[in-house]
Amino acid sequence: MRSSIKIGKISGISIAVHPTWLIAVIFIAWTIASLFERSFASWSTTQYWTGAIVGSLALFASVLVHELAHSIVAQRIGLPVDGITLFIFGGVSQIRGRYSRARDEFWVAFAGPASSLILGALFLLTWTWLRPDRGDPSLLLGIIFYLGFMNIALGVFNLLPGFPLDGGRVLRSAVWALSHNESTATRVAAGVGNVVAWGMIGLGVYRFLDGDTVGGIWMAFIGLFLQSASRGERQAEQVRRAGPHVPLRAAIQRTPQIVEADERVSDVMERVVSRGFQQVVPVIDDGVPVGFFTAGDAARFPVQDWVNLSVGAVIDRQQPYAVQLSENAVDVLDALRARNTRYAMVLDGDDVVGVVGIPGLEAVIRLTTHGADASVGQPPPG
Ligand SMILES: [Zn+2]
Repeated sequence: MRSSIKIGKISGISIAVHPTWLIAVIFIAWTIASLFERSFASWSTTQYWTGAIVGSLALFASVLVHELAHSIVAQRIGLPVDGITLFIFGGVSQIRGRYSRARDEFWVAFAGPASSLILGALFLLTWTWLRPDRGDPSLLLGIIFYLGFMNIALGVFNLLPGFPLDGGRVLRSAVWALSHNESTATRVAAGVGNVVAWGMIGLGVYRFLDGDTVGGIWMAFIGLFLQSASRGERQAEQVRRAGPHVPLRAAIQRTPQIVEADERVSDVMERVVSRGFQQVVPVIDDGVPVGFFTAGDAARFPVQDWVNLSVGAVIDRQQPYAVQLSENAVDVLDALRARNTRYAMVLDGDDVVGVVGIPGLEAVIRLTTHGADASVGQPPPG
């Protein structure tokens, strides 16, 4: 997620928080404080609020455990994990690549809710074991009770069959295993997810009208979030299916002017870039591609120095990634993202025939799959 802040690393998985996470921490703390106030009359205001803040942070630690369970199982089956981000609606694991078997998807999806249910059971057992016979529990025990309850709720909620919730993924893997058709499985899971999302929106509105203002709005928002996420999944599936039919040739910048590494920056800027001929210029050194030059590389140096600098000295020199003209745009975009690089040389056999970049690929894929939108299936039920 953009503008997230990295806070650490666990088992090689980087953990980040999105700014919206802070809103959730405050909102949940506020909910806990009023819950404690209603339940434990003997506590002081300081106790309500200490319990609320600690409880809210500990709840997100539980969410992190849930996400780690997904990510670690994904790593075990060989899928790369880009990281975990905590945000306003909880957490998300960025797992890259695709499942090769329904069984793998099942275990990755199921690991999260399973960890929440186990954690919840442990907290509730501790609570039953230590709770006082009479009167209010201690601050710590109050928090433990809350965490037990919330982790169970988290596990159960995530098992709802609403794609992209974990339960939706479990459903998808089951349909996939039974039908042997991944595409059908995605459509079924996204359709059921849409129904669940609208159900939550409806229930949220009902609760709102029934007087539970904040809870109702919150539920409706989660429903809207799920609804847009399930639409996103359907579109991603369309892109995957359209993938082989989106030609790379539509996205490339043809017949690039290739420059030598020892050419002056000032010359190349004047001759190629500033006249708007070309945004990305492949650079070769002794006939070997060594990278790409863009106006951004030049901009890191004062204009008066351009005349003394060679192109080879200002670019990030690395073996440019090369793709064949016969590949499709979707695969090339995935490959560029996976390599964390923005551009690739396009070859036809051994000849350089163009340059391709992420923005161009995204535009072409969006256009192509948007055209496919109307013809793909019926509108989802609900
Ligand atoms: Zn999950």
